Amino acid sequence: MKQYEMEQYDVVVVGAGHAGCEAGLAAARMGAKTLVLSIQLDAVALMACNPAIGGTGKGQLVKEIDALGGEMGLVIDKTFIQSRMLNKSKGPAVHSPRAQADKRRYHEEMKSALERQAGLDLKQGEAVDLLFDDDRVQGVILRTGAIHRAKTVILATGTFLGGRVFMGESTYESGPCGFAPATALSKALRDRGLAIRRFKTGTPARALAQSLHFERMEEQKGDEEIIPFSYMNETVGENKASCWLTWTNAKTHEIIMKNLTRSSLYGGLIKGVGPRYCPSIEDKVNRFSDKERHQLFIEPEGLSTGEVYIQGMSTSMPEDIQRDFYRSIPGLEDAVFTRAGYSIEYDCIDPLFLYPNLEHKEIKGLFCAGQFNGSSGYEEAAAQGLMAGINAALKASDRAPFVLDRSEAYIGVLIDDLVTKGVEEPYRMMTARAEYRLMLRQDNADLRLTEKGYAIGLVSRERYETYLRAKAETETEVNRLRETAIKPEDAAELLSESGFMPLASGISLAELLKRPKIRYAALSTVDSYRPDISARVRERAEIQIKCEGYIKKQLLQIERFRKLENKRLPEDFDYFALDGIRLEAKQRLSRIKPISVGQASRISGVSPADVNVLLIYLKRGGLW
Ligand SMILES: Cc1cc2nc3c(=O)[nH]c(=O)nc-3n(C[C@H](O)[C@H](O)[C@H](O)COP(=O)(O)OP(=O)(O)OC[C@H]3O[C@@H](n4cnc5c(N)ncnc54)[C@H](O)[C@@H]3O)c2cc1C
Repeated sequence: MKQYEMEQYDVVVVGAGHAGCEAGLAAARMGAKTLVLSIQLDAVALMACNPAIGGTGKGQLVKEIDALGGEMGLVIDKTFIQSRMLNKSKGPAVHSPRAQADKRRYHEEMKSALERQAGLDLKQGEAVDLLFDDDRVQGVILRTGAIHRAKTVILATGTFLGGRVFMGESTYESGPCGFAPATALSKALRDRGLAIRRFKTGTPARALAQSLHFERMEEQKGDEEIIPFSYMNETVGENKASCWLTWTNAKTHEIIMKNLTRSSLYGGLIKGVGPRYCPSIEDKVNRFSDKERHQLFIEPEGLSTGEVYIQGMSTSMPEDIQRDFYRSIPGLEDAVFTRAGYSIEYDCIDPLFLYPNLEHKEIKGLFCAGQFNGSSGYEEAAAQGLMAGINAALKASDRAPFVLDRSEAYIGVLIDDLVTKGVEEPYRMMTARAEYRLMLRQDNADLRLTEKGYAIGLVSRERYETYLRAKAETETEVNRLRETAIKPEDAAELLSESGFMPLASGISLAELLKRPKIRYAALSTVDSYRPDISARVRERAEIQIKCEGYIKKQLLQIERFRKLENKRLPEDFDYFALDGIRLEAKQRLSRIKPISVGQASRISGVSPADVNVLLIYLKRGGLW
């Protein structure tokens, strides 16, 4: 193949999935000359699986992406068809927004954002190899022979890299949704010696809504009051669609168990490791045989299509068995299927080879993001893409890396888990993974991150001013609630309705609000002057007051955490020269090259005793 030089860039992003889109936009918005490649432009921001953005732990990621100047929050606010706040009955630390998306419109809106972005070129082209100069990446080579040289390259190849589809006894090379896979680059990366592994994921069938019996299912509506994903939006309009709940039954389970060996997974065809938290239906029925039924949701894929997604029922069974077990479910008896469920295996790297800024430890200028790093999910991919884009742009302009730690953001938890602990299966974000989740709530991501995004040059002036206004409004409202006193007689009715004894003396609105069961909305009966503030500011003021004590406690824990996090470690530290540390710890520390004592303490195989020896040694060495 004849090769020829084409445009040069600061940043070339291989992939325009959820990671690649955020990476490209972030790099271009920070002033880097950026190219974003996709094998097919029709696969830009493809929602290959569930038609939804957000969920537990994932919703927090989307808010953080938005607060830092990313795009996902803005696009879902324009293309959502139903929105809900999950876990509302629980504490605010686990409130998680989730919205059903119109998939086709989501693709169009994100593609349009890339097309409109100054300094960004979006191009259809398949990268078949990378250019190297010794241990530094120099650019990409396309299937056409075109060479694009670049200071930095971001690999965000998703489930396309080495893509192979499985359905029953049949298997063939393919990307998701029938798109072409990226096989050449897969081979080139292996030949280059990158630590490549095989992961897999799966998706359910799609059916036509008009062939389903919704009267035999339970309707699930969106929330009445919708708080937008993006901090740039005060309101986003109405819910436009419902989801529907139904269950499997003994018949479904019987069909699956009788034909288990015909599934690619149980037939032994699939070698890749799948996500524990998104098991296929055959896996659920087989592993949890004590369960009489499994719930599933029928989710519309969009407003201009009759296709629906059968959530909770991914499978690698052959089509005939799929047809039979799906039709055994109430409401799906006459279902007409437009797409069969399938599993897909793909290549990804071992994220332990990455620094916390997502640069590869052995190849300078090469950054990695998304499913390629061993995670699973649109939101996890987008968060990594944003950080890879930021850091590739910083690298290209010789500026210091931008890293978020576990106490600052879910993004910090996500990346630290990947690059410090590694993954044995596709990594899905959950609130339980974030030890400081009370501080990392979905309502305050802008208060935590927008200032940082503005400092690195990603957050626009307009977004920064919106943030300053919202911050001031929140502080004003919290202070007003603290300083507004209520006479006992004025609060009597509210207190008795909430099961409290009458007051002996006056009380502040904040004190009243701190009482369980008394919500901000209920204060309207005693609060004569109620400012016209947004639902978001009301929500935040209420949480800051109600959780004040817990927040104070968590801030102390974070202070302790930061002590070790701020003890930096030299990149070229010789751990083998240390006495008193076990060999396994020396090997792991040398391999991962932690940037701080805090990160070192989270490496599996490094014990607290090893960390103590390290601390003493480094203190004596006058490192701090
Ligand atoms: C069948 C299936 C089921 C899934 N199930 C789930 C699930 O249950 N839960 C969940 O959370 N997530 C699931 N996902 C994963 C979800 O789709 C991904 O997490 C998400 O899309 C990852 O985003 P990404 O940007 O890393 O990669 P992708 O969205 O896969 O995008 C990769 C991009 O890279 C491009 N590309 C790849 N190689 C090249 C190349 N050599 N040259 C140029 N362009 C290239 C592609 O064209 C595409 O634009 C599933 C995905 C699939 C396919």
